[in-house]
Amino acid sequence: ATSVLCFRNDFRLLDNPALRAAVDAGPDGVVPMFVLDEHYWGPGGRTRLAYLMRALAHLDERIGLTIVKGKPWEVIPRVARSVGATSVHVAADYTPYEAERDQRIERALAEDDVELVRTGSAYAVAPGRITKADGSPYRVFTPFYRAWLEHGWRDPAPGARDVPWIRADVETTALPEVDPPEGLELPPVGEEAARRRWREWLDHVDEYDDVRDLPGEDLTSRMSVHLKWGHVHPRTLLADLAERSSKGAEAYGRELAFREFYADVVHHRPDTIEGYYDKRFERMEYDHPGGDLQLWKDGRTGFPIVDAGMRQLAATGWMHNRVRMIVASFLVKDLHLEWTVGAKHFMDLLVDGDPCSNQHGWQWVAGCGTDAAPYFRIFNPVTQGKKFDPDGRYVRRWVPELRGVEGKAVHEPWTLSRPPEEYPAPMLDHAAERKESLRRYEALRS
Ligand code: FAD
Repeated sequence: ATSVLCFRNDFRLLDNPALRAAVDAGPDGVVPMFVLDEHYWGPGGRTRLAYLMRALAHLDERIGLTIVKGKPWEVIPRVARSVGATSVHVAADYTPYEAERDQRIERALAEDDVELVRTGSAYAVAPGRITKADGSPYRVFTPFYRAWLEHGWRDPAPGARDVPWIRADVETTALPEVDPPEGLELPPVGEEAARRRWREWLDHVDEYDDVRDLPGEDLTSRMSVHLKWGHVHPRTLLADLAERSSKGAEAYGRELAFREFYADVVHHRPDTIEGYYDKRFERMEYDHPGGDLQLWKDGRTGFPIVDAGMRQLAATGWMHNRVRMIVASFLVKDLHLEWTVGAKHFMDLLVDGDPCSNQHGWQWVAGCGTDAAPYFRIFNPVTQGKKFDPDGRYVRRWVPELRGVEGKAVHEPWTLSRPPEEYPAPMLDHAAERKESLRRYEALRS
């Protein structure tokens, strides 16, 4: 018997339950395949596409992928037929397009009497599993988190050994060359790189709670890209954390739960991947994106912590979480643009761009998400900078024009007797825009 294993965003051989299921069903051969699905070939998201191509090339070198271009519900049955497979194996996917895609694949395979078997998911606890006693979904993180901890998860699945990999005799496609946006350096690919990074970082986990909000320290795990592409499963990370009982390890587990919470929210409210969780905010008065948006994108707003974040994003496809919140708040509450405009730019550039965490991270900041920060809590970019980048190290790292400014003065260069000439003056008056934001909010409420 043979089987097909379809990789999507789970590029690993360790702790991969779908792989084990494929091996059990296909002792005579497992075809590892990937579909180049045109759905993902939009104009945006080039960073992710470039990273994906490298991750695929790496996996292809290890196990020899059958890579086919086309609609998944057309090409997967073709591959299954070519090797006489009786089952096709995937990890369950929950986001709207992906869930519908899998239903179409399932129907198409059924015509040939082939089964689509979903085993595991990208989460410790699959979206939809955790509900309140009355069966309704959680809308607030903390009670979800408690229920999630109580629910628990399986131990990591043992790795599959001696997998009988085979290639399908179908027309395949060479991986297209996709370069990341100019000047952007991609992080390393592959599950070995993910595990290496995790093991190194684990030495710092006990400090995590103290340093995770300080972008200048740069001591967060950088696992988001690996979780996004499934180079590692969160269960594996949780098992390592369980061996420690520090505040840092607990705080880290809680962050992983945020990722699971947002996936759960999207599972119950698929509309929120594009639209407002709190629909009242649709009626808010927003400005039209214009030149201001470009200054934000280019990191030339004149607010150092905002500009540092936007330049880190452009250079690396990643931004520190605290700074993601600060730049998002600036776009929504200082520039008065819709959160969707900023979320789209993030999805275009982020290498860890994940629709659930991104759209809901933005909605949290914009005050229209689950459990959101109240709208009237408006980040002051200077105060945030001084508080979370107290010695200015983060700003100096990413804004070369300000490298000559010492200490926290770097957060308000306009107060210096001789402000660095090359760095722009603030594009707006934060106090005035704050008032304007509150005015719009009051108008919405009345
Ligand atoms: P660590 O601090 O080491 O955290 C460990 C892991 O916990 C992360 O890898 C991530 O999987 C998870 N996590 C941490 N914080 C959050 C959070 N607030 N929400 C959900 N998961 C979290 N994360 C993404 O993975 N993809 C996105 O597209 C994304 N967009 C965001 C947009 C905005 C506006 C905001 C405020 C946050 C966004 N986040 C996103 C969450 C967070 O910023 C990143 O997960 C984190 O910065 C990744 O770096 P790290 O792996 O070093 O994090």
